[in-house]
Amino acid sequence: MKKDSNFEELDEICNMIEITTVRHILEIYPQFLKNKTNISFNFFEKNSLNAYAKYDYYNDTYEIYLGKKLISELRNISLNIINNVSDDKDISHMTRNELSKLEDSIFYFWIHFICHHEWFHIARGHLNYGSKNIDKCFKINELQTNDYTKNNNIGLCFEIDADRYAWKFVFGSFIMTVDNLEKELNLTVDVLLKFFIKSMMYIFDLFVDLGGNNRGTEHPAPSERMIITIMSIQEAIHIKPEILEKFDMNEETFIMMSTTLLREHFKNHELKYKLDIDKLIFTSQLWDDYIQTLKNMKLDEYQLLREF
Ligand SMILES: [Zn+2]
Repeated sequence: MKKDSNFEELDEICNMIEITTVRHILEIYPQFLKNKTNISFNFFEKNSLNAYAKYDYYNDTYEIYLGKKLISELRNISLNIINNVSDDKDISHMTRNELSKLEDSIFYFWIHFICHHEWFHIARGHLNYGSKNIDKCFKINELQTNDYTKNNNIGLCFEIDADRYAWKFVFGSFIMTVDNLEKELNLTVDVLLKFFIKSMMYIFDLFVDLGGNNRGTEHPAPSERMIITIMSIQEAIHIKPEILEKFDMNEETFIMMSTTLLREHFKNHELKYKLDIDKLIFTSQLWDDYIQTLKNMKLDEYQLLREF
């Protein structure tokens, strides 16, 4: 099942990201913004596992940078992901080629998430926040200290906000492609939904490997980001419960299923994440604090999105 990580060249993958996710965001999403806004995506070669967004005042352009090292690491993790997210009975009938396509799909949903997370830092006004005039280059750097604010609560709030909106959109993409995936991968939509929920949490394993399950200067801990992932998808369904019709589920059964998958994921990684599971699973304190901070900070005045 394991593929050679050199099987696909990194440049080929970057090219694929350009013609799928990046093109999708650049062509479709301007309609969601209040004004014409210049946004560019760029890959950088530096040996850094990073992605970031910044505003270039002189060129009046918001720039999103994706580190090639980040992409290649996620690719490596995705090549063994099936062993982690499958119940054998679900995949026992799949051909090698179908399994490989399933791994590809998971990888591209992760990349989709990263691109959306950066795009929402821009669209939600995080880079402009607090400035009357945009007179300097703000920057959100995902693994280093950010230079736009020294207020940690606000930094934490922006990261949760970018995750929240990104997951809602990435989940929307999954819903839009699930019928095709069903045919292409020879899996039922129910199994695909379960795979999607399970596998999306694994993107944060990379961050656990890099820095442990700790809060960064602004970022929530990886395990907290997994909770945010599940809560954001649950929120998307709460707003549009008819999404679940094709899965023969209702909101209540989805909440139960996704919460169980999160609980199982934490149970399987209890030692690695150093979790106090009861404390994490049964509290949404971080989310509640974020919603409260958001209410107080009047982000709407800065956001570039038309509504929300
Ligand atoms: Zn971020």
